[in-house]
Amino acid sequence: MVKAHGYAAHDAHSPLVPFSFERRDPGPHDVQIEILYSGICHSDLHQARNDWSNSLYPMVPGHEIVGRVVAVGAHVKKFQVGDFAGVGCMVDSCRHCSACNDDLEQYCEEGATWTYNATERNSEQLTFGGYSDQIVVDERFVVKVPGHMDLKAVAPLLCAGITTYSPLRHWKVGSGQKVGVIGLGGLGHMGVKFAKALGAQVVMITTSPEKGKDATRLGADEVLVSRDAEAMAAHGGSFDFLLNTIPVPHDLNPYMQLLKRDSTMALVGVLTEIEPPLAGSSVIFGRKSLAGSAIGGMVETQEMIDFCAEHGVVSDVEVIEMSTVNEAYERMLKNDVKYRFVIDMATLKPAA
Ligand code: NAP
Ligand code: ZN
Ligand code: ZN
Repeated sequence: MVKAHGYAAHDAHSPLVPFSFERRDPGPHDVQIEILYSGICHSDLHQARNDWSNSLYPMVPGHEIVGRVVAVGAHVKKFQVGDFAGVGCMVDSCRHCSACNDDLEQYCEEGATWTYNATERNSEQLTFGGYSDQIVVDERFVVKVPGHMDLKAVAPLLCAGITTYSPLRHWKVGSGQKVGVIGLGGLGHMGVKFAKALGAQVVMITTSPEKGKDATRLGADEVLVSRDAEAMAAHGGSFDFLLNTIPVPHDLNPYMQLLKRDSTMALVGVLTEIEPPLAGSSVIFGRKSLAGSAIGGMVETQEMIDFCAEHGVVSDVEVIEMSTVNEAYERMLKNDVKYRFVIDMATLKPAA
């Protein structure tokens, strides 16, 4: 077994603490990765605190993982020792259902195996995520990261990046379109960068007017403060696509009013309910769609990394030490992050 060290939540109410555990030895198709950086996604916080009522403890969160390959199994084709590699939200799937055959493992009909807060496919062994120093993953669920990229700023691409890239591609966002990205956190700032790189006219839609000063740097053409009813009315009926990253229940109706006829708002924020309710008129008048999207499949995740390497797209990160993860969670809850916390795993001190 591979000895691993990390940080774990032991219940929904206590802070994360140092934790030692074991990973499986790399099998023939496995890659062992020494983790260098691990991003902090709002989903980590949701799950550490059991917001989705499905948490399994102890839980080592983290699914924005970048590191260096330190061992490969005999049948591994894509990787060699010394390569840089990334792992996102999934580490396995059934591999034979129609979703898996279509390279959409995130929609696996038997359920994808999540990087943490899950059990391995053939055992009751919990999966443990990226707030740790080592991980062992089947190469199908590992992407190649070009060595010239800024690795700490690549880590968030493995979840925030693919979760925003995939819907923008699916709904064919491109030049000549006006696209709004709602909620300027980890996902939202990547959504703005991708929509711009794809050629769209991009509007940042935010509750935080002060984030407006970052608009140009992030790639937005305009800022719309969602609390400003007059400004919202002025943009009414003008958007070709909206990407909504807000992590908590909120009123969707004012956002639906921003859409043109026949256009779509895709939710990526994991809302536990739609409250207040969505009015029928919000979709009926204008034949509009409310949709959702989850991360992206492994082929598309590699495509996204390659797109980022080609277009110079990475995340804006604040690098933190492992021991400050609990403070980072509190700051994330106050929207006090620009725009993604990333843990430098070199700062991890093993449990005594
Ligand atoms: P984050 O960094 O905390 O950013 C969320 C942003 O939403 C905030 O920066 C804020 O932006 C806005 N916001 C927060 N509270 C709000 C409120 N009460 N009303 C209106 N706006 C609010 O979170 P994240 O990591 O980007 O994750 C966002 C959501 O996506 C989470 O629910 C996460 O679990 C989910 N997620 C889904 C997938 C998927 O596959 N679908 C993948 C990853 C994450 P402003 O200050 O600009 O308003
Ligand atoms: Zn995530
Ligand atoms: Zn499947």
